[in-house]
Amino acid sequence: MRPVVVLGATGSIGRQALEVADHLAIPVVGVGARRGSEDLMTIARDHPDARIGVAAPTGAERERFEAELGERVAFGPESLIEMAASTGATVLNGVVGSAGLSASVAALEAGNRLALANKESLVAGGPVVLQALERGGGELVPVDSEHSALHQCLVGEREDEVRRVVLTASGGPFRGLSAEQLERVTVEQALDHPTWKMGPRITIDSATLMNKAFEVIEAHFLFGFSYGRIDVVVHPESVVHALVEFVDGSLKAHLGEPDMRIPIQYALTGPTRSLGLADPFALAGRRLTFEPPDTTAFPCLGLGYEAGRQGGSAPAVLNAADEIAVHAFLDRKIGFSSIPVVVERTLADVEVRPLESVEDVMAADREARAIASGHLGASC
Ligand code: MG
Repeated sequence: MRPVVVLGATGSIGRQALEVADHLAIPVVGVGARRGSEDLMTIARDHPDARIGVAAPTGAERERFEAELGERVAFGPESLIEMAASTGATVLNGVVGSAGLSASVAALEAGNRLALANKESLVAGGPVVLQALERGGGELVPVDSEHSALHQCLVGEREDEVRRVVLTASGGPFRGLSAEQLERVTVEQALDHPTWKMGPRITIDSATLMNKAFEVIEAHFLFGFSYGRIDVVVHPESVVHALVEFVDGSLKAHLGEPDMRIPIQYALTGPTRSLGLADPFALAGRRLTFEPPDTTAFPCLGLGYEAGRQGGSAPAVLNAADEIAVHAFLDRKIGFSSIPVVVERTLADVEVRPLESVEDVMAADREARAIASGHLGASC
């Protein structure tokens, strides 16, 4: 098995990736995180052969890691990028935020398998990541449950025999609420996701359906389907992760418990399968329901399709504006219903440009953040 580098190792996906790697006895050769936390030190002790990268340590963290780990540790954002570029590895990129893009590009340019869990890489930098894939001859495999499901449904199938692909959405904690009711929801209610346990931003993005908008854009870049061939259906049980409909009227669905260790493992071992960590799936007694998304109450999904179709920097602007709006909501500066308002106004204000480099993506990101911040006050 190819050795693995885990970036974003102390986050939810990173920790589960290490659990899967340890379970399958895959050598962990690199571990990266933003901060030199106690959790990272524990991971370093448990993986004595791994190089450790700390992107943004405090002075005290740097001293302590150096004292205990010596030559094995490196610091600064470059330390993560260097590990991503170590050849012959599978690089699981679970970095949160746009800092993950450079690592994705480095991994693919080095010809590595990139197991991608960093949303921003494809949402904000899709064209740049695809260029790196072409240049380096690496391999891009998804970690996200819906995209892993599509990836698995599409194995052995021809692109021109696919009518459409369908991503499922749990609908989040506010499924069924009207636009009016959504105006009064609280931060605590939004953070209480019914089926998946995730970090705060992605949990809010799931509640607004922006997360599904991002996944539509990611599916476009991962599998090459036009936006007209990517649909979303609400499926509250989160058991069917995606479906592919073929031109002959057949559908393939991918089912599994909502347990991220399943798609993480497939990203590391696929197309080979090994004994996994999840419990066996009990089929009897299951009820699976599907309903159309309410795009009036949840306008973020439509905004995602719009930005995706515009292409260029528009999805990067969508992502940056959403991040600003979500943090303002978490800080109780704006209401839940103002999130799409801030995003829509920012998309309208920022000029769409082509993306050719990581720097182009960062420039679009900075511009969108500044403009989105300006819209916060007006939308309260
Ligand atoms: Mg997902």
